[in-house]
Amino acid sequence: MKKDSEIRVRMAPSPTGFFHLGSARTALYNWLFARHNQGKFILRVEDTDVQRSSKEMIQTILDGLGWLGLNWDEGPYFQSERLAIYKKYVQQLIDKGYAYYCYCRPEDLAREREAALKNKQSWKYDRRCLNLTPEQKKEKERANHPKAVRFLVPDHPVVFYDLIHKEIKRDFADIEDFIILRQNGIPTYNLACAVDDYEMGITHVIRAVEHITNTPKQILLYEALNFSKPEFAHLPLILGEDRKKLSKRHGAVSLMAYKEKGFIPEAMVNFLALLGWSPGNDKEIMSIKEIIQRFSLKRINPANAIFDIQKLEWMNGQYIYRMSDGELLESLKPFLIKFKFITPAELDKKREWILRVCGAIKKRLKVLADIDKAGRYFFVEDFEYEPRALEKHLHKETIEIVKEFSRIMETITDFDGAHIEESLRGFVKEKNIPARNLIHPLRVFTTGKEGGPGLFLTLELIGKERCLKRIKKIIKNYEEKNG
Ligand code: GLU
Repeated sequence: MKKDSEIRVRMAPSPTGFFHLGSARTALYNWLFARHNQGKFILRVEDTDVQRSSKEMIQTILDGLGWLGLNWDEGPYFQSERLAIYKKYVQQLIDKGYAYYCYCRPEDLAREREAALKNKQSWKYDRRCLNLTPEQKKEKERANHPKAVRFLVPDHPVVFYDLIHKEIKRDFADIEDFIILRQNGIPTYNLACAVDDYEMGITHVIRAVEHITNTPKQILLYEALNFSKPEFAHLPLILGEDRKKLSKRHGAVSLMAYKEKGFIPEAMVNFLALLGWSPGNDKEIMSIKEIIQRFSLKRINPANAIFDIQKLEWMNGQYIYRMSDGELLESLKPFLIKFKFITPAELDKKREWILRVCGAIKKRLKVLADIDKAGRYFFVEDFEYEPRALEKHLHKETIEIVKEFSRIMETITDFDGAHIEESLRGFVKEKNIPARNLIHPLRVFTTGKEGGPGLFLTLELIGKERCLKRIKKIIKNYEEKNG
């Protein structure tokens, strides 16, 4: 049972599209607000648009919340299962004279609206059904005429205080009597939302700013139904770097697409938390505990937030870097398998070795999927050689030096970083050449890249045989071409 002082917030997604970044941020802010205040976070699926709602989309919402770790305390409630509740309140509104039946055919009204728009005239419902005589009404009822229910919009303006945008005033002169119950008995969003927020004891409605134009309508419903009003906080838009509303043009919008790319949920949460809210200092990387502790609606910026993918990638890289090798291995597993770097059976057998690769490569991953490019050479032989890097070292002199050193490599019995380094340093000293003259080509010949983790560790992890094979292949190709 709800305690009087309890903070109760809700996430109320419509399962008509993928769970996107904007919805994820709304969910997160509600969750943070609930957790900060030891309140309740409620999940309510607004699935009254039967045609556009789907089970698949409901699943993406549940998956998305689950992935981010936004656990809910009540629900999920489904509006489609609560139709009787909405009807009860609609009846109350009719009984009290705040709403009336409308027998107009939606197609007829749509045609009228279109015609007016064509003539550049505004159009709003003219209350013709409100003005039906009792006789006319009886006639319609007798004929069992399909009917919707409209809310009788008063002519006074609505003023409300938004916790983020301050005072909002809405004049109703241009607002028609909106439909609250459709002919098919399904309530519209505003009715169902207002009823549910009241029935579920919601104390703070925290939602996207797109809904700020709906709020006055919901306030009218609250007033007509004698409900106590919640507080409202409308979250700013999320824009792409071109200042346009975030959409598919800006890359992935669906939250789960970020999981597939290898973003870490903790980094995503940290990033989304800062997409409109600030802790009041410059701190960027924060634990979830710290974010909960500091979160407040007061520090939400009313200005639109800009989605900066580079920042997200940087932050994700920071989270990966801070993971233990074991944690990184757990997160990387699906990618190692997807890229066919390893079979599920080998994961266990080679665990110790993979852990060391994780430790070596950690710093170079912004997203987990970067392992494909940054770490491929550890696992398989079909990696690419950066053409320019290779070109740089394909000279007779270099080839000779590498060839000579590879013979020494063959003799190293304990092929570990320390022994490889010792041999290499001894070799270059004897030859009186700078170490880099050997280190650079060795790296490129064995990894295809100019950069990477420390060379000696890299060679050790690739293993003696594979290193020598790779070096031999490069030398052979060179010699074949250059006689
Ligand atoms: N169902 C609405 C949506 O998904 C949210 C409504 C609300 O939070 O009040 O946009």
